Amino acid sequence: MAYDPNNVFAKILRGEIPCKKVLETEHALAFHDINPLAPLHVLVIPKGAYVSMADFSANAPAEEIAGFVRAVGETARMLGAEAEGYRVLSNVGLNGGQEVPHLHVHVFAGRPLGPMLAGRV
Ligand code: AMP
Repeated sequence: MAYDPNNVFAKILRGEIPCKKVLETEHALAFHDINPLAPLHVLVIPKGAYVSMADFSANAPAEEIAGFVRAVGETARMLGAEAEGYRVLSNVGLNGGQEVPHLHVHVFAGRPLGPMLAGRV
């Protein structure tokens, strides 16, 4: 999938649309999901233009990868989710149900999150 610079997260990064910011670092931005699926539902995105984890891991410089991973951990800490636990999830491509073609991980917390996936094989 090619990177679309008009995707909604690129617009958030450019300040063209607002977000409810949790954390901003040199390499990453974390903000509340507009349609939360848990009491705490935050998205963490790298600032660079990467579609997916495959794209990011293959093409991003090491500092950007480290900065993004640190921001995910820091976001969970800032949400106070460490003690009771949380879930990190990234949807990629068609089968993953990815809606926005800019790499993002969801951080869910604030209640027991149930089984990892809805159904069985
Ligand atoms: P995914 O299916 O993993 O691509 O999920 C995309 C997520 O982005 C969904 O959970 C949406 O609710 C969320 N989302 C879409 N637009 C916005 C926005 N403007 N601000 C915050 N979250 C958004």
